[in-house]
Amino acid sequence: MITAYKCKACGQMMYPYHYRCIKCGAREFDKVAPSDSAKLLTYTIIEQLPWGFDERGRVLGVIEFTNKVRAMALIDVDADRDEVKLGMKLSVHWEPVRDDYGEKVYGIVCRPA
Ligand SMILES: [Zn+2]
Repeated sequence: MITAYKCKACGQMMYPYHYRCIKCGAREFDKVAPSDSAKLLTYTIIEQLPWGFDERGRVLGVIEFTNKVRAMALIDVDADRDEVKLGMKLSVHWEPVRDDYGEKVYGIVCRPA
């Protein structure tokens, strides 16, 4: 599942893991589970996917969880891209996002809440 890291020195939230705090440089963190809801900060639509993706295109977004953790995520809206709006509320899931030579690769998948 998704784990975020909170700096023990300054409280900065980070995802994914960094060796040092991106704000103060400290090295000790508390593991934090991001909430299962988030909002959409920004997004882009990729029309030309790499070979092997059996889809017309994908919506990729930057999301912010309610505890301020930010992450990249696949925004799953099926064919209805008009549904995608900045600031929209999302439900967050941990699911396969692609198939790498028969092995499922997991990532963050969001759907309109
Ligand atoms: Zn820090």
